[in-house]
Amino acid sequence: MNRYKHIQQAAYDGNMQLPKLGLVIFTFGNVSAADHDLKVFAIKPSGVYYKDLSPEKMVVVDFDGNVMEGSLRYSSDTKTHAVLYKHCPGMGGIVHTHSTYATAWAPALRDITNYGTTHDDHTTYDIPCAAPMNDEMIAGDYEHETGFQILNCLKEKDLSYKEIEMILVGNHAPFAWGKTVEKAVYNAAVLEELAKMAFLTEQINPGSARLKQSLIKKHYERKHGDGSYYGQ
Ligand SMILES: [Zn+2]
Repeated sequence: MNRYKHIQQAAYDGNMQLPKLGLVIFTFGNVSAADHDLKVFAIKPSGVYYKDLSPEKMVVVDFDGNVMEGSLRYSSDTKTHAVLYKHCPGMGGIVHTHSTYATAWAPALRDITNYGTTHDDHTTYDIPCAAPMNDEMIAGDYEHETGFQILNCLKEKDLSYKEIEMILVGNHAPFAWGKTVEKAVYNAAVLEELAKMAFLTEQINPGSARLKQSLIKKHYERKHGDGSYYGQ
């Protein structure tokens, strides 16, 4: 009996959403699903096309990056996922893509500005862009350090991973996460849409201002506050 079946299935389902949502091409991207009681996660194998994936092909790894189950080589970003799960007990799923618009902001080294209420409905914060790694980190255990690049950025901005569930890794691409894999995939798709909208806003009017505080508060509370009234 495979005790990791539930996370392999969840990781598979999450991965299969990426091409459907237009967030990846070819073998780009990866999704993982964690079980924090067992301290393991299942992740996409490296370099396998989405159409060739199956739940059994998801590689199960512990939070230190040791393979527990699976015969394929794990995604090259696995150590980044491991670092994040190890430090963030509330993360149930992580998604990494090179979706076009979100990825375009990463080498620009800019946070994605909260320009409008669509952004605000999801997060009141600008989406942070983590500073690029120094040469020492790049030369070291690169994927492991990417995890710390993310954690350090959140720390510097005084944000918890529960307050903001998406980030840009400077010079690289986005990561998104959530309590569940479904939420992490949703956040990755939302991030791409917000990056696109913010880009277009700046093209239409390079002098566009950040959303004003009264609207930020109103829109966020509509969905998330004590008296929220959005949805069923
Ligand atoms: Zn990448």
